[in-house]
Amino acid sequence: MLAIRMNPRNHEGSDDGGDDGEYDTARRQLVERLRRRADVSDRTLAAIEAVPRHEFVPSANRSAAYADRPLPIGHGQTISAPHMVAIMVDLLDVDRGDRVLEIGTGCGYHAAVVAEIVGPGNVHSVEYVPELAEAARDRLTRLGYDVAVHVGDGRQGRPSEAPFDAAYLTCAAADGVPDSVVEGVRPGGRVVAPVGESGSQRLVRLTVRDDGGVDRADHGGVRFVPLQ
Ligand code: SAH
Repeated sequence: MLAIRMNPRNHEGSDDGGDDGEYDTARRQLVERLRRRADVSDRTLAAIEAVPRHEFVPSANRSAAYADRPLPIGHGQTISAPHMVAIMVDLLDVDRGDRVLEIGTGCGYHAAVVAEIVGPGNVHSVEYVPELAEAARDRLTRLGYDVAVHVGDGRQGRPSEAPFDAAYLTCAAADGVPDSVVEGVRPGGRVVAPVGESGSQRLVRLTVRDDGGVDRADHGGVRFVPLQ
């Protein structure tokens, strides 16, 4: 059975002239592959099914938009593979209405998947490269996602918008998750992040305790671009 779409939207305004048929089929096939491959929740699969990934990749890579692998998005950065987005969204464990901080907007795809779950106005994303931030902001707006994209250094977190229910990094922090990001998450909230040096990164989930400390769980080896 196909997942129920959480937030069906009309993707008119796509630069494919509205002819999304071939992409719809490819996206459904990707979702079915993810359903078989990993223990991904139905809610996350529905969010992935709702987001037109082909709108987030450069036109030269559109035909590969629904392959389960990372793709270049310019400026030496990549859009993460769909299974990695799915795993991270499940670990984030958010519900509708939760407020989320993303460090590393990139093309905006991961933020759109999270926004499908938490709803409009609840995702704040920080991107270091101004050109990527601007392109992601325009794209998200055109596709109907109310995500706040900020240009800046994610190491500083986003204190003016804190507290968040959850936060995540889409780039790897060699020295561990920056304190300012953890401090912006409420007790009981989660931080999901790749940490470690290139070649030995781990995906970790921190759960913030009432005393401000964190419980850390390791979710395996991963490969991400570095936090700048
Ligand atoms: N979630 C993204 C993947 C982005 S790749 C997507 O769906 O496409 C990681 C991004 O983190 C890159 O765009 C990179 O420019 C950004 N980045 C790296 N260091 C950063 C920092 N200190 N603050 C904010 N963004 C950063």
